[in-house]
Amino acid sequence: MSVTERLTAVRDTLPQGVELVAVSKYHPVDELMEAYRAGQRIFGENIVQELRLKQPQMPDDVQWHFLGHLQTNKVKYIAPFVSLIHSIDSLHLLSEVNRQALRCGRVIDCLLQLHVAQEETKFGFTFSECLQMLSEGEWRSMEGVRLCGVMCMASNTDDESRIRQDFRSVNDFFVQLKTDYFADAPHFSIRSYGMSHDYPLAISEGSNMVRIGTGIFGPRPLTIEL
Ligand SMILES: *Cc1c(COP(=O)(O)O)cnc(C)c1O
Repeated sequence: MSVTERLTAVRDTLPQGVELVAVSKYHPVDELMEAYRAGQRIFGENIVQELRLKQPQMPDDVQWHFLGHLQTNKVKYIAPFVSLIHSIDSLHLLSEVNRQALRCGRVIDCLLQLHVAQEETKFGFTFSECLQMLSEGEWRSMEGVRLCGVMCMASNTDDESRIRQDFRSVNDFFVQLKTDYFADAPHFSIRSYGMSHDYPLAISEGSNMVRIGTGIFGPRPLTIEL
């Protein structure tokens, strides 16, 4: 199947109101262009250097989402154009995004990445770390960033009930944050969870933004030619 066919097939399964992020990391620009011509506008990348090289090669109306672990010293490279950062996992990172956004005269939309998976290696705030950060309130004075919701990756397992539980706990947590901190903020509305193998489950547990790579572009090449 071609990128266009896979993209169309994925889109046909998405209910209204669920945004699709085409995760294009490791894939060459001509494949991204095929998805673009088929109407896709939101692309997700997780390596700063790769994103910096691809961005000028794609049309200006692409919305670039950053998904992976983001080092503070690299924020400056993506701040001029990134449209949503999914992976805020510390106050330190949020304040650097704020600083760089203000330098560019922008407000950058951000999601709080939550750690729910069983694996040690996944990044993100625990629920209690996230609550502590929000209750301390420093984020409120950051005019270059706008918190728009939450993101997570579920446990890497075949155990469907475990995955469902991860998504459900993040959705419950989102509702709690919405009530306690963002009741007056209509933009705080994004629940980014669900990838190629688990997105139908994610949607059934409240996701409204799915991040799909393999399901659109096929298996990732081991190396990228940029
Ligand atoms: C790579 C990646 C995805 C997409 O994964 P697929 O299994 O290829 O759909 C989604 N989210 C994040 C954070 C990723 O790094």
